[in-house]
Amino acid sequence: MEQPYLESVDHCTVCGGGDWLPHLVAKDHTLSQELFPLTRCAQCGFCCTNPRPGPPHIGRYYDSPHYISHTNAARGLQNKLYQWARRRAIHGKHRLIARYRSNGKVLDVGCGTGEFLRHLKSRGYLTMGVEPNLGAREQAIAGHSLEVFPRLEDIPAAEQFQIATFWHVLEHLHDPRFALKQVYARMAKGGLLLIAVPDRESWDADHYQSTWAAYDVPRHLSHFRRQDLQRVLIEHGFELVSIRPMWFDAPYVAMLSERYRGSGPLGALLRGLFIGAVSNLASLITWRPTSSTLYVAKKA
Ligand SMILES: [Zn+2]
Repeated sequence: MEQPYLESVDHCTVCGGGDWLPHLVAKDHTLSQELFPLTRCAQCGFCCTNPRPGPPHIGRYYDSPHYISHTNAARGLQNKLYQWARRRAIHGKHRLIARYRSNGKVLDVGCGTGEFLRHLKSRGYLTMGVEPNLGAREQAIAGHSLEVFPRLEDIPAAEQFQIATFWHVLEHLHDPRFALKQVYARMAKGGLLLIAVPDRESWDADHYQSTWAAYDVPRHLSHFRRQDLQRVLIEHGFELVSIRPMWFDAPYVAMLSERYRGSGPLGALLRGLFIGAVSNLASLITWRPTSSTLYVAKKA
């Protein structure tokens, strides 16, 4: 049956082509249990969720309590691991930024409830965020006294940023090219851009196929590979500084994928850690990217 809230993707985000081939069909395990096809561009190979819920309809696919609950011991352990990994990730992001710049104004696109910005603020950076979700935005503003706007277009034109970050955000946007254009316009020359996205060429993506948790349909709309993002960044006036592995994503994504395949909490934890380790090992010894890839670029 035709679903009226779904829209087809006319043009490829990467090359502008309009011919799509079927790629795979993934399920929304987190919320709706609906199936969404991924299509692959016949010209360049870029993959996207297609058809997808249009901008007015995507909100309800985010309307879910967090996957990890606190109800039993195994989940408690999983939750503790998750919290530990999150704290570690925030410190890791700060250390990475500090290598390039120890001060300046940071724009975090998709800042959520603002924990990363709060940490940077405590380290002396000036901060600003963009977050479309009202609840998260209000929490960032009230809880951490941050300045947060609902959309990139709402940021005053006079603002200039030395650092801009998209931590697992670009894959959620209906128009990533528009976002990059907006950010470019607000960045200082030589400004640093950091983008983290899942990488569908990772070993764990191959292993889990359509149950790979980082397909996360229909919230993830673009499924980038290295060549896709490199091309888009260069076209938008950015110069690539480095492409970095992200070691902590594989075990987390593998644990979720195991849950989607029916494992219980403890089984998913153990198998997830194992598969995550195998995926990371594959990245260490072969060309394969890690489960997610981090791009460091600068405004040329
Ligand atoms: Zn294409």
